[in-house]
Amino acid sequence: MTAILIDGKARAAALRAEVAIGVAAFAAAHGRAPGLTVVLVGDDPASAVYVGAKGKACREAGIIAGEYKLPADTAQADLLALVAALNADPAVDGILVQMPLPRHIDSDRVIAAIDPAKDVDGFHPVNAGRLATGLDALVPCTPSGCLMMIREALGDISGKEAVVIGRSNIVGKPMAALLLRESATVTIAHSRTADLAGHCRRADIIVAAVGVPLLVKGDWVKPGACVIDVGMNRIALPDGKTRLVGDVDFAEVLPRAGWITPVPGGVGPMTIACLLANTLKAAMSRAAS
Ligand code: NAP
Repeated sequence: MTAILIDGKARAAALRAEVAIGVAAFAAAHGRAPGLTVVLVGDDPASAVYVGAKGKACREAGIIAGEYKLPADTAQADLLALVAALNADPAVDGILVQMPLPRHIDSDRVIAAIDPAKDVDGFHPVNAGRLATGLDALVPCTPSGCLMMIREALGDISGKEAVVIGRSNIVGKPMAALLLRESATVTIAHSRTADLAGHCRRADIIVAAVGVPLLVKGDWVKPGACVIDVGMNRIALPDGKTRLVGDVDFAEVLPRAGWITPVPGGVGPMTIACLLANTLKAAMSRAAS
């Protein structure tokens, strides 16, 4: 048996096309397109690439993309003042402050300063709490995209055993909350988990969001399981080049799993598509309130 590859690029293109239709309908009804403003502090090259990709995807979907590039030594008070100004700007439906922030800035404080109605990353404690308590929320983009792919692979996931490896606020915890909302039986594993392989072997669904290259081995996977690889790890090759790999040992898991996401081309493209979907959702909720 060989796993079915979950094509994140194709799924993301379909979602982006759906969002573009929604954006056009919103613009026709409200006389303006939804707006997303991204704030980048500092000159981290990876963050600059993400911000560029987000802006491009917005424009392709008809969303108005704003961008602020602030120097690395920006004072926290100045960043908070910008967030307050964006909160007050009626043309801005979504605010995304690109993480990680420079060390002298308290990320939690910045996230908490964003209007929860404009928190398209879904990181604000109000949105995290709403998700955890089963209320409608802006949900973090990466786990949202993972859930869409799991649902498409498995259909109803009620009663399935799911193991989420990683407990970060941006992936692991919201992923577990989403799977629980779908009535899966959820185990959250982390760096202190004893017998991680044993937990994984029982799982119908494994979501690996760890940051450890090729951690999940072939014999950790129950035959036919759905394996979602969130990891994005750049490893050095003997010839001096680098390669992007996930948290799953793709070559070993491919012959055992039922479904698997590749890296790249799996979870990554879905994350940006879900950001566009969250921006449209935020615009529609704000227009209705
Ligand atoms: P993170 O904040 O560093 O969290 C990593 C989690 O993995 C932690 O909960 C940690 O446990 C756990 N962990 C570390 N080593 C482990 C081990 N050996 N066994 C079991 N658990 C272990 O990372 P993150 O932000 O969630 O991101 C995870 C990965 O996903 C990274 O590779 C990141 O680049 C990638 N990512 C991809 C996308 C995308 O769009 N494709 C988006 C976001 C993140 P403790 O809590 O005990 O420390």
